[in-house]
Amino acid sequence: MPRNRPGALRTAPQHQHHRPRHWDSPAPDRVHGLSARTSLAVHRYEALSTDYYVFPGVTDSALRRYRAFLRPPGRRPRYPFLDDCTCRGCSLRDVRHARAMLDTVLRDLPPRARAELRRLVAPLDVGYLARTLPDPLADALRDPWWYRRLEGCQYAATGTV
Ligand SMILES: [Zn+2]
Repeated sequence: MPRNRPGALRTAPQHQHHRPRHWDSPAPDRVHGLSARTSLAVHRYEALSTDYYVFPGVTDSALRRYRAFLRPPGRRPRYPFLDDCTCRGCSLRDVRHARAMLDTVLRDLPPRARAELRRLVAPLDVGYLARTLPDPLADALRDPWWYRRLEGCQYAATGTV
């Protein structure tokens, strides 16, 4: 079954929104769970990035999506799913894309901010690995670990959030 790879996603946005490339706006609210200093580093990175998938607020949105995916109580497995729309907003509904964006942000933050965000993401990673199932057909050389989990369907009656 063909899957929309992160690489493919990046080349085919359905619509783009213009935004300034410079840092001239006041700092928005603090990213939930992060210090004011790290939130500022995150906002600055988001505002200055030229990556289509990085936009102001993407880190907070990705964290919310990651938490929401893991929120349903119980031990039943959860299945990530691909969203129909590949725009940068809708793409975040795919928890794997949300995790990929957190990875992008982590890679590009200054060391102190990176360490703080990493501490926030680490327990979510543990939860993600505990609540999803390994995909035996996944390509370990091509896909990051969060993509190598069994995929579900967006419209499944089991209520994937
Ligand atoms: Zn969209």
